[in-house]
Amino acid sequence: MLTGLDAGEKFSLSFTFSHGENLLKGELYKDPRVQALLSKSFSGKLQVIFPVFNLERGIFYPDVEDVLGGCLEAGEFLAELYNAGFLSRKLYDKVVCCPSCGSVNVSTRYSCPYCKSFDIIKSSLIEHIKCGCMDVEEKFRLEGKLVCPKCHGELTKRDVDYRRAGVWCTCRGCGKSFDMPVAGHFCRECRHVFLFEDAVFKEAYVYKLNEAVKTEFLVGAIPSQVFIVIFSFKFTLLFAASL
Ligand SMILES: [Zn+2]
Ligand SMILES: [Zn+2]
Ligand SMILES: [Zn+2]
Repeated sequence: MLTGLDAGEKFSLSFTFSHGENLLKGELYKDPRVQALLSKSFSGKLQVIFPVFNLERGIFYPDVEDVLGGCLEAGEFLAELYNAGFLSRKLYDKVVCCPSCGSVNVSTRYSCPYCKSFDIIKSSLIEHIKCGCMDVEEKFRLEGKLVCPKCHGELTKRDVDYRRAGVWCTCRGCGKSFDMPVAGHFCRECRHVFLFEDAVFKEAYVYKLNEAVKTEFLVGAIPSQVFIVIFSFKFTLLFAASL
């Protein structure tokens, strides 16, 4: 099963779900917050619940906060519903948090593996196929064209005249070159600099109503008060549409 994404690939929605506990599920059906969420989902207004991200709050679910009357604990609420088997989910993103202050206002720094400076210049490596000359793109740039610095032939067709052979970085701090920088982070709130091993990750999920809950609704297993909420909502819609 696909669990991650390759570069350039778009996010696909294949969900996993927890079977949950029936007892817990039965109790949750009586929860007015769950009833509100179900009625919105059945009405088609909230089919898939995507998280939103900003630097102040990190991951949050504004659509669900609306349903819960402005409650900011929508993430915990959705996780609870997932654990009870109401919702299926898919990992959407992982947010890096500062290990010192917990802020998500964190930048990624690609640094020199020799002197750790993040003042590095990233270039593309180009290979002239005819003569085998390989160097950074800047060395081939001449008056808006690509010209081989060794044999002075012009490079016009990619993968015929020349190949892009990866990236090449040069450090402004120590002058050394390398192909793979070291990734680190900088907290813009408390100015803490940290590496992957100290980074804290928060998971963000996309949620949707579990198909089994829809079936339970169709066979009448959902308590009547939920049915009334959903039914009255649909009726309001029908009534509004007929005006
Ligand atoms: Zn911090
Ligand atoms: Zn050449
Ligand atoms: Zn360096």
